Amino acid sequence: MSLEVKKWLKDMSPLFLRCRSIRHAWDVKGYSEVDPPESATALGLNQFIGRQMQCVHCEVIRTDIFGRRRTSAPAMFRKLTVRYRYPGGYQYSSKEMVGTRPTMQVYDNESLARTLPAELQ
Ligand SMILES: [Zn+2]
Repeated sequence: MSLEVKKWLKDMSPLFLRCRSIRHAWDVKGYSEVDPPESATALGLNQFIGRQMQCVHCEVIRTDIFGRRRTSAPAMFRKLTVRYRYPGGYQYSSKEMVGTRPTMQVYDNESLARTLPAELQ
């Protein structure tokens, strides 16, 4: 792990580190019709729905995109893609860090280093 990644990890907010280690806690905010994703052009689908969610801890926004063929007997929805919008500071801060993504083990260890009770360290 590069020094830059180590510094980024050390400076990471507790909320962001929590979500990177434990994962997000999604709260559904609503549904809306969305433009079809590029990947869906050849599938013959004609209805596209986005399910917007927000993490209750770090405020990352996730949109699951579903599509189906809507006819007199609508087919089941299928999930086509997932889009994320990140708050400032959540993602890597510089181009040099791209390709050196820390593993889950790194996030877990940083999280435990910060939060493990003293008697267990
Ligand atoms: Zn989160």
